[in-house]
Amino acid sequence: MKPDLHIVGAGLTGLTAAIEAAERGWRVTVAEANPRPGGRARTLAAPYRANLGTHAIYVDGPWWAWLERRGLTPPIVEAPRHATLVRAGGRLGPWPAELSQVIAALPTEAPVEESLRAWLLRHVDARTAEAIVGVVFIFTFDHDPGRLSAAFAHQRLRRAMAGGVRYVTGGWSTLVDLLAERAAGLGAQIRTRTRVPALPAGPTILATSLATARQLTGDRSLTWPGARVTTVDLGLRADSGPDWFRVMDLDARIYAARYGLADPTLAPPGHELIQISAACAPGERKADAERRVQHLLDESWPGWRAALQWYRSALRTDCTGAIDLPGTTWHDRPAVSRGDSLAVATDQSAAPGLLAEVGISAAQLALQQLGETPMLAEAHMRV
Ligand SMILES: Cc1cc2nc3c(=O)[nH]c(=O)nc-3n(C[C@H](O)[C@H](O)[C@H](O)COP(=O)(O)OP(=O)(O)OC[C@H]3O[C@@H](n4cnc5c(N)ncnc54)[C@H](O)[C@@H]3O)c2cc1C
Repeated sequence: MKPDLHIVGAGLTGLTAAIEAAERGWRVTVAEANPRPGGRARTLAAPYRANLGTHAIYVDGPWWAWLERRGLTPPIVEAPRHATLVRAGGRLGPWPAELSQVIAALPTEAPVEESLRAWLLRHVDARTAEAIVGVVFIFTFDHDPGRLSAAFAHQRLRRAMAGGVRYVTGGWSTLVDLLAERAAGLGAQIRTRTRVPALPAGPTILATSLATARQLTGDRSLTWPGARVTTVDLGLRADSGPDWFRVMDLDARIYAARYGLADPTLAPPGHELIQISAACAPGERKADAERRVQHLLDESWPGWRAALQWYRSALRTDCTGAIDLPGTTWHDRPAVSRGDSLAVATDQSAAPGLLAEVGISAAQLALQQLGETPMLAEAHMRV
Protein backbone atom coordinates (compact mmCIF):
# COMPACT_ATOMS: atom_id res chain seq x y z
CA MET A 1 0.00 0.00 0.00
CA LYS A 2 1.47 3.35 -1.02
CA PRO A 3 1.50 6.12 1.61
CA ASP A 4 -0.86 9.09 1.21
CA LEU A 5 0.27 11.81 -1.19
CA HIS A 6 -0.40 15.44 -0.28
CA ILE A 7 -0.67 17.92 -3.11
CA VAL A 8 -0.83 21.60 -2.19
CA GLY A 9 -2.61 23.62 -4.89
CA ALA A 10 -5.36 22.59 -7.30
CA GLY A 11 -4.20 24.56 -10.33
CA LEU A 12 -3.40 22.83 -13.63
CA THR A 13 -0.21 21.40 -12.14
CA GLY A 14 -1.77 20.06 -8.95
CA LEU A 15 -4.76 18.57 -10.77
CA THR A 16 -2.58 16.90 -13.42
CA ALA A 17 -0.35 15.44 -10.70
CA ALA A 18 -3.41 14.28 -8.74
CA ILE A 19 -4.85 12.41 -11.74
CA GLU A 20 -1.66 10.64 -12.63
CA ALA A 21 -0.80 9.74 -9.02
CA ALA A 22 -4.32 8.42 -8.39
CA GLU A 23 -4.12 6.36 -11.60
CA ARG A 24 -1.02 4.72 -10.13
CA GLY A 25 -2.65 3.79 -6.88
CA TRP A 26 -1.71 6.66 -4.62
CA ARG A 27 -4.30 7.88 -2.14
CA VAL A 28 -4.25 11.57 -2.98
CA THR A 29 -5.41 14.64 -1.07
CA VAL A 30 -5.30 18.02 -2.80
CA ALA A 31 -5.57 21.13 -0.60
CA GLU A 32 -6.69 24.29 -2.37
CA ALA A 33 -6.88 27.68 -0.66
CA ASN A 34 -9.51 29.07 -3.04
CA PRO A 35 -13.19 28.14 -3.05
CA ARG A 36 -12.68 26.77 -6.58
CA PRO A 37 -9.87 24.79 -8.20
CA GLY A 38 -7.96 26.12 -11.20
CA GLY A 39 -5.55 28.70 -9.77
CA ARG A 40 -4.40 30.99 -12.57
CA ALA A 41 -6.44 28.94 -15.04
CA ARG A 42 -9.78 30.00 -13.53
CA THR A 43 -12.39 31.81 -15.58
CA LEU A 44 -14.67 34.50 -14.16
CA ALA A 45 -18.41 33.76 -13.98
CA ALA A 46 -20.75 35.34 -16.55
CA PRO A 47 -21.52 37.89 -17.89
CA TYR A 48 -17.88 38.35 -19.06
CA ARG A 49 -16.06 35.05 -18.73
CA ALA A 50 -12.53 36.38 -18.65
CA ASN A 51 -9.64 34.00 -18.04
CA LEU A 52 -7.61 35.10 -15.01
CA GLY A 53 -4.33 33.96 -16.56
CA THR A 54 -3.97 31.24 -19.18
CA HIS A 55 -5.45 31.87 -22.65
CA ALA A 56 -3.62 29.81 -25.25
CA ILE A 57 -3.40 26.03 -25.09
CA TYR A 58 -0.68 24.49 -27.30
CA VAL A 59 -2.09 21.43 -29.04
CA ASP A 60 1.34 20.52 -30.44
CA GLY A 61 2.70 19.86 -26.95
CA PRO A 62 3.05 16.80 -24.71
CA TRP A 63 0.42 17.94 -22.22
CA TRP A 64 -2.20 17.98 -24.97
CA ALA A 65 -1.18 14.41 -25.87
CA TRP A 66 -1.48 13.50 -22.16
CA LEU A 67 -5.02 14.93 -22.13
CA GLU A 68 -5.88 13.10 -25.36
CA ARG A 69 -4.80 9.75 -23.95
CA ARG A 70 -7.27 10.23 -21.11
CA GLY A 71 -10.17 11.61 -23.13
CA LEU A 72 -9.77 14.90 -21.27
CA THR A 73 -9.27 17.32 -24.14
CA PRO A 74 -11.61 20.29 -23.79
CA PRO A 75 -13.55 21.79 -26.70
CA ILE A 76 -11.26 24.30 -28.42
CA VAL A 77 -11.46 27.01 -31.06
CA GLU A 78 -8.91 28.53 -33.39
CA ALA A 79 -8.36 32.24 -33.81
CA PRO A 80 -10.96 33.64 -36.22
CA ARG A 81 -9.85 34.71 -39.67
CA HIS A 82 -10.03 38.42 -38.84
CA ALA A 83 -6.93 40.52 -39.35
CA THR A 84 -4.01 40.86 -36.99
CA LEU A 85 -2.99 44.48 -36.52
CA VAL A 86 0.65 45.14 -35.69
CA ARG A 87 2.61 48.17 -34.59
CA ALA A 88 6.29 47.83 -35.41
CA GLY A 89 8.74 50.68 -35.80
CA GLY A 90 5.96 53.18 -34.98
CA ARG A 91 3.59 52.14 -37.77
CA LEU A 92 0.22 50.43 -37.09
CA GLY A 93 -0.82 48.15 -39.93
CA PRO A 94 -1.50 44.57 -40.99
CA TRP A 95 0.84 41.75 -39.91
CA PRO A 96 3.84 42.04 -42.28
CA ALA A 97 4.04 38.72 -44.17
CA GLU A 98 7.77 39.21 -44.64
CA LEU A 99 8.23 39.03 -40.84
CA SER A 100 6.95 35.42 -40.84
CA GLN A 101 9.38 34.62 -43.67
CA VAL A 102 12.34 36.19 -41.84
CA ILE A 103 11.48 34.29 -38.64
CA ALA A 104 11.19 31.01 -40.59
CA ALA A 105 14.60 31.63 -42.17
CA LEU A 106 16.42 32.08 -38.83
CA PRO A 107 18.90 29.30 -37.93
CA THR A 108 17.21 26.34 -36.26
CA GLU A 109 19.43 26.61 -33.17
CA ALA A 110 20.20 29.66 -31.07
CA PRO A 111 22.87 29.92 -28.36
CA VAL A 112 22.06 29.76 -24.64
CA GLU A 113 24.86 32.16 -23.71
CA GLU A 114 23.93 35.01 -26.01
CA SER A 115 21.02 37.44 -25.63
CA LEU A 116 18.20 37.23 -28.16
CA ARG A 117 18.90 40.76 -29.37
CA ALA A 118 22.63 40.19 -29.89
CA TRP A 119 21.93 36.92 -31.72
CA LEU A 120 19.23 38.44 -33.96
CA LEU A 121 21.51 41.34 -34.90
CA ARG A 122 23.92 38.80 -36.37
CA HIS A 123 21.17 37.54 -38.72
CA VAL A 124 18.76 40.39 -39.50
CA ASP A 125 18.75 44.19 -39.63
CA ALA A 126 18.12 46.21 -36.45
CA ARG A 127 14.53 47.12 -37.30
CA THR A 128 13.56 43.50 -38.00
CA ALA A 129 15.41 42.35 -34.87
CA GLU A 130 13.31 44.72 -32.72
CA ALA A 131 10.10 43.52 -34.37
CA ILE A 132 11.00 39.88 -33.58
CA VAL A 133 11.90 40.86 -30.01
CA GLY A 134 8.42 42.41 -29.79
CA VAL A 135 6.78 39.19 -31.01
CA VAL A 136 8.62 37.21 -28.32
CA PHE A 137 6.94 39.38 -25.66
CA ILE A 138 3.60 37.72 -26.53
CA PHE A 139 4.54 34.34 -25.05
CA THR A 140 7.15 35.43 -22.48
CA PHE A 141 5.36 38.57 -21.18
CA ASP A 142 8.79 40.13 -20.65
CA HIS A 143 9.13 43.91 -21.04
CA ASP A 144 12.41 43.46 -22.94
CA PRO A 145 12.63 39.98 -24.49
CA GLY A 146 15.81 41.08 -26.28
CA ARG A 147 17.59 40.52 -22.94
CA LEU A 148 16.50 36.85 -22.69
CA SER A 149 18.62 33.85 -23.61
CA ALA A 150 18.51 33.49 -27.40
CA ALA A 151 17.92 29.74 -27.07
CA PHE A 152 15.01 30.21 -24.64
CA ALA A 153 13.33 32.90 -26.73
CA HIS A 154 13.93 31.22 -30.08
CA GLN A 155 12.56 27.81 -29.02
CA ARG A 156 9.36 29.52 -27.89
CA LEU A 157 9.17 31.60 -31.04
CA ARG A 158 9.31 28.43 -33.13
CA ARG A 159 6.57 26.79 -31.07
CA ALA A 160 4.34 29.85 -31.28
CA MET A 161 4.85 30.26 -35.04
CA ALA A 162 4.15 26.55 -35.66
CA GLY A 163 0.43 27.22 -35.25
CA GLY A 164 -0.46 24.98 -32.31
CA VAL A 165 -2.31 27.72 -30.41
CA ARG A 166 -6.00 27.16 -29.60
CA TYR A 167 -8.46 28.65 -27.11
CA VAL A 168 -10.54 26.62 -24.66
CA THR A 169 -14.24 27.05 -25.36
CA GLY A 170 -16.03 28.54 -22.36
CA GLY A 171 -12.69 29.61 -20.88
CA TRP A 172 -10.09 27.54 -19.03
CA SER A 173 -12.53 26.63 -16.26
CA THR A 174 -13.98 24.17 -18.80
CA LEU A 175 -10.71 22.23 -18.72
CA VAL A 176 -10.23 22.72 -14.97
CA ASP A 177 -13.67 21.19 -14.37
CA LEU A 178 -12.75 18.18 -16.54
CA LEU A 179 -9.50 17.67 -14.62
CA ALA A 180 -11.11 18.10 -11.19
CA GLU A 181 -13.93 15.66 -12.08
CA ARG A 182 -11.46 13.05 -13.30
CA ALA A 183 -9.26 13.44 -10.21
CA ALA A 184 -12.30 13.07 -7.94
CA GLY A 185 -13.51 10.09 -10.01
CA LEU A 186 -10.19 8.37 -9.38
CA GLY A 187 -10.65 8.87 -5.65
CA ALA A 188 -8.54 12.00 -5.09
CA GLN A 189 -9.92 14.24 -2.33
CA ILE A 190 -9.94 17.88 -3.41
CA ARG A 191 -10.38 20.10 -0.38
CA THR A 192 -11.15 23.67 -1.42
CA ARG A 193 -11.06 26.63 1.01
CA THR A 194 -8.15 24.81 2.66
CA ARG A 195 -5.03 26.94 2.93
CA VAL A 196 -2.07 24.83 4.04
CA PRO A 197 -0.11 26.86 6.63
CA ALA A 198 2.96 24.60 6.87
CA LEU A 199 4.52 21.69 5.05
CA PRO A 200 2.48 18.50 5.51
CA ALA A 201 4.29 15.40 6.79
CA GLY A 202 4.82 12.57 4.30
CA PRO A 203 5.13 12.60 0.51
CA THR A 204 4.15 16.07 -0.70
CA ILE A 205 4.03 17.93 -4.00
CA LEU A 206 3.87 21.72 -3.65
CA ALA A 207 1.99 22.72 -6.80
CA THR A 208 1.74 26.41 -5.93
CA SER A 209 3.55 29.42 -7.30
CA LEU A 210 7.31 29.43 -6.67
CA ALA A 211 6.85 32.37 -4.26
CA THR A 212 4.35 30.39 -2.16
CA ALA A 213 6.64 27.35 -2.19
CA ARG A 214 9.41 29.63 -0.90
CA GLN A 215 7.20 30.78 1.98
CA LEU A 216 6.00 27.27 2.87
CA THR A 217 9.48 25.73 2.83
CA GLY A 218 11.42 28.74 4.13
CA ASP A 219 13.91 27.92 1.36
CA ARG A 220 15.10 31.27 0.00
CA SER A 221 16.83 29.64 -2.95
CA LEU A 222 13.39 29.07 -4.51
CA THR A 223 13.47 32.11 -6.78
CA TRP A 224 13.72 32.66 -10.53
CA PRO A 225 13.18 35.67 -12.80
CA GLY A 226 9.64 36.27 -13.99
CA ALA A 227 7.80 38.99 -15.86
CA ARG A 228 5.60 41.93 -14.73
CA VAL A 229 2.46 42.49 -16.70
CA THR A 230 -0.64 44.65 -16.45
CA THR A 231 -3.78 42.89 -17.64
CA VAL A 232 -6.83 44.81 -18.81
CA ASP A 233 -10.14 43.02 -19.47
CA LEU A 234 -13.00 44.77 -21.23
CA GLY A 235 -16.63 43.87 -21.86
CA LEU A 236 -17.98 45.87 -24.79
CA ARG A 237 -21.09 46.17 -26.88
CA ALA A 238 -20.22 44.41 -30.13
CA ASP A 239 -22.00 46.84 -32.49
CA SER A 240 -18.98 49.12 -32.97
CA GLY A 241 -16.31 46.41 -33.37
CA PRO A 242 -13.35 46.86 -35.72
CA ASP A 243 -12.25 44.22 -38.24
CA TRP A 244 -9.27 42.80 -36.33
CA PHE A 245 -9.09 39.84 -33.96
CA ARG A 246 -5.86 40.88 -32.28
CA VAL A 247 -3.55 43.85 -32.00
CA MET A 248 0.12 43.35 -31.29
CA ASP A 249 1.97 46.49 -30.33
CA LEU A 250 5.49 45.18 -30.78
CA ASP A 251 6.97 48.56 -29.81
CA ALA A 252 5.02 49.04 -26.57
CA ARG A 253 4.77 45.26 -25.79
CA ILE A 254 0.98 45.11 -25.69
CA TYR A 255 -1.13 42.18 -26.89
CA ALA A 256 -4.89 42.54 -27.21
CA ALA A 257 -7.25 39.80 -28.41
CA ARG A 258 -11.01 39.78 -28.89
CA TYR A 259 -11.52 36.33 -27.35
CA GLY A 260 -15.29 36.86 -27.50
CA LEU A 261 -15.03 36.81 -31.31
CA ALA A 262 -13.34 33.40 -31.22
CA ASP A 263 -15.78 32.07 -28.62
CA PRO A 264 -19.13 33.89 -28.33
CA THR A 265 -19.97 32.00 -25.09
CA LEU A 266 -17.53 34.29 -23.26
CA ALA A 267 -19.84 37.33 -23.40
CA PRO A 268 -23.61 37.93 -23.47
CA PRO A 269 -25.30 38.15 -26.92
CA GLY A 270 -24.46 41.45 -28.63
CA HIS A 271 -21.38 41.90 -26.42
CA GLU A 272 -17.79 40.79 -26.58
CA LEU A 273 -14.81 40.21 -24.37
CA ILE A 274 -11.35 41.59 -25.06
CA GLN A 275 -8.35 40.74 -22.86
CA ILE A 276 -5.09 42.66 -23.02
CA SER A 277 -1.60 42.18 -21.58
CA ALA A 278 0.95 44.97 -21.37
CA ALA A 279 4.49 44.21 -20.23
CA CYS A 280 5.70 46.51 -17.46
CA ALA A 281 9.33 47.47 -17.02
CA PRO A 282 10.55 47.37 -13.40
CA GLY A 283 8.97 50.36 -11.67
CA GLU A 284 6.27 51.03 -14.25
CA ARG A 285 2.97 51.65 -12.44
CA LYS A 286 -0.26 49.88 -13.38
CA ALA A 287 -1.95 53.21 -14.15
CA ASP A 288 0.78 54.09 -16.66
CA ALA A 289 0.52 50.70 -18.36
CA GLU A 290 -3.28 51.12 -18.53
CA ARG A 291 -2.81 54.50 -20.20
CA ARG A 292 -0.62 52.84 -22.85
CA VAL A 293 -3.30 50.20 -23.40
CA GLN A 294 -6.04 52.82 -23.71
CA HIS A 295 -3.96 54.80 -26.16
CA LEU A 296 -3.56 51.69 -28.35
CA LEU A 297 -7.31 51.05 -28.20
CA ASP A 298 -8.07 54.66 -29.14
CA GLU A 299 -6.00 54.16 -32.29
CA SER A 300 -7.21 50.69 -33.20
CA TRP A 301 -10.85 50.75 -32.02
CA PRO A 302 -12.06 54.37 -32.04
CA GLY A 303 -15.54 53.51 -30.67
CA TRP A 304 -14.41 51.41 -27.70
CA ARG A 305 -15.01 54.01 -24.98
CA ALA A 306 -18.66 54.49 -25.95
CA ALA A 307 -19.19 50.70 -26.17
CA LEU A 308 -17.58 49.94 -22.80
CA GLN A 309 -19.74 47.93 -20.34
CA TRP A 310 -17.19 46.36 -17.98
CA TYR A 311 -13.54 47.09 -17.12
CA ARG A 312 -11.05 45.23 -14.95
CA SER A 313 -7.31 45.62 -14.55
CA ALA A 314 -4.52 44.07 -12.47
CA LEU A 315 -0.74 44.21 -12.12
CA ARG A 316 0.67 40.67 -12.13
CA THR A 317 4.22 39.98 -10.97
CA ASP A 318 6.11 36.70 -11.45
CA CYS A 319 3.00 34.76 -12.39
CA THR A 320 3.24 34.33 -16.15
CA GLY A 321 5.93 31.62 -15.95
CA ALA A 322 9.71 31.38 -15.96
CA ILE A 323 12.07 33.40 -18.12
CA ASP A 324 15.65 32.29 -18.74
CA LEU A 325 18.38 34.92 -19.06
CA PRO A 326 21.56 34.36 -21.13
CA GLY A 327 23.69 31.54 -19.76
CA THR A 328 20.74 29.76 -18.14
CA THR A 329 18.28 27.07 -19.22
CA TRP A 330 15.39 25.38 -17.45
CA HIS A 331 17.93 23.00 -15.87
CA ASP A 332 19.26 25.94 -13.81
CA ARG A 333 15.89 26.83 -12.26
CA PRO A 334 15.01 25.61 -8.73
CA ALA A 335 15.02 21.80 -8.73
CA VAL A 336 11.73 19.93 -8.40
CA SER A 337 13.15 17.40 -5.97
CA ARG A 338 13.69 18.87 -2.50
CA GLY A 339 14.63 15.70 -0.62
CA ASP A 340 13.11 12.26 -0.28
CA SER A 341 9.48 13.14 0.12
CA LEU A 342 9.09 16.77 -0.98
CA ALA A 343 8.77 18.06 -4.53
CA VAL A 344 8.17 21.63 -5.71
CA ALA A 345 6.33 21.63 -9.05
CA THR A 346 5.72 25.16 -10.31
CA ASP A 347 5.82 26.95 -13.64
CA GLN A 348 9.19 28.42 -12.59
CA SER A 349 10.74 25.05 -11.68
CA ALA A 350 13.53 23.13 -13.41
CA ALA A 351 11.33 21.50 -16.02
CA PRO A 352 10.87 21.94 -19.78
CA GLY A 353 7.84 23.34 -21.56
CA LEU A 354 6.09 26.46 -22.69
CA LEU A 355 4.24 28.60 -20.11
CA ALA A 356 1.78 26.38 -18.16
CA GLU A 357 3.43 23.23 -19.56
CA VAL A 358 6.42 23.90 -17.28
CA GLY A 359 4.38 23.26 -14.11
CA ILE A 360 2.90 20.16 -15.66
CA SER A 361 6.23 18.68 -16.66
CA ALA A 362 7.50 19.62 -13.17
CA ALA A 363 4.65 17.52 -11.77
CA GLN A 364 5.88 14.62 -13.90
CA LEU A 365 9.37 15.00 -12.45
CA ALA A 366 7.80 15.07 -8.98
CA LEU A 367 6.10 11.72 -9.68
CA GLN A 368 9.41 10.36 -10.93
CA GLN A 369 10.91 11.31 -7.58
CA LEU A 370 8.17 9.26 -5.92
CA GLY A 371 9.34 6.26 -7.91
CA GLU A 372 6.84 6.55 -10.75
CA THR A 373 7.68 6.61 -14.46
CA PRO A 374 5.92 9.69 -15.80
CA MET A 375 3.69 9.37 -18.82
CA LEU A 376 4.32 12.79 -20.31
CA ALA A 377 6.22 11.90 -23.50
CA GLU A 378 9.44 11.14 -21.62
CA ALA A 379 9.38 14.57 -19.98
CA HIS A 380 10.35 16.10 -23.33
CA MET A 381 13.72 17.74 -22.98
CA ARG A 382 13.11 20.61 -25.36
CA VAL A 383 10.30 23.10 -25.74
C1 LIG B 1 -1.83 37.01 -17.47
C2 LIG B 1 -1.38 35.58 -17.68
C3 LIG B 1 -1.47 35.00 -18.93
C4 LIG B 1 -1.07 33.68 -19.14
N1 LIG B 1 -1.20 33.13 -20.37
C5 LIG B 1 -0.88 31.84 -20.56
C6 LIG B 1 -1.15 31.20 -21.79
O1 LIG B 1 -1.72 31.80 -22.71
N2 LIG B 1 -0.80 29.89 -21.94
C7 LIG B 1 -0.21 29.18 -20.94
O2 LIG B 1 0.09 28.00 -21.13
N3 LIG B 1 0.04 29.76 -19.74
C8 LIG B 1 -0.28 31.07 -19.53
N4 LIG B 1 -0.08 31.65 -18.32
C9 LIG B 1 0.60 30.88 -17.29
C10 LIG B 1 -0.38 29.91 -16.60
O3 LIG B 1 -1.51 30.61 -16.14
C11 LIG B 1 0.32 29.26 -15.43
O4 LIG B 1 1.57 28.74 -15.84
C12 LIG B 1 -0.48 28.09 -14.86
O5 LIG B 1 -1.83 28.43 -14.71
C13 LIG B 1 0.15 27.70 -13.53
O6 LIG B 1 -0.58 26.62 -12.99
P1 LIG B 1 -0.13 26.01 -11.60
O7 LIG B 1 -1.12 24.97 -11.26
O8 LIG B 1 1.30 25.61 -11.68
O9 LIG B 1 -0.18 27.22 -10.55
P2 LIG B 1 -1.45 28.03 -10.04
O10 LIG B 1 -2.46 28.16 -11.11
O11 LIG B 1 -0.92 29.28 -9.42
O12 LIG B 1 -2.07 27.09 -8.92
C14 LIG B 1 -1.55 27.07 -7.62
C15 LIG B 1 -2.71 26.85 -6.67
O13 LIG B 1 -2.19 26.71 -5.34
C16 LIG B 1 -3.09 27.31 -4.46
N5 LIG B 1 -2.37 27.61 -3.23
C17 LIG B 1 -1.35 28.48 -3.06
N6 LIG B 1 -0.95 28.46 -1.77
C18 LIG B 1 -1.68 27.52 -1.14
C19 LIG B 1 -1.70 27.01 0.19
N7 LIG B 1 -0.87 27.46 1.15
N8 LIG B 1 -2.61 26.05 0.51
C20 LIG B 1 -3.46 25.57 -0.44
N9 LIG B 1 -3.48 26.03 -1.72
C21 LIG B 1 -2.59 26.98 -2.06
C22 LIG B 1 -3.55 28.56 -5.21
O14 LIG B 1 -4.77 29.05 -4.70
C23 LIG B 1 -3.69 28.02 -6.64
O15 LIG B 1 -4.99 27.56 -6.90
C24 LIG B 1 -0.52 32.95 -18.07
C25 LIG B 1 -0.43 33.52 -16.80
C26 LIG B 1 -0.88 34.82 -16.59
C27 LIG B 1 -0.83 35.39 -15.20
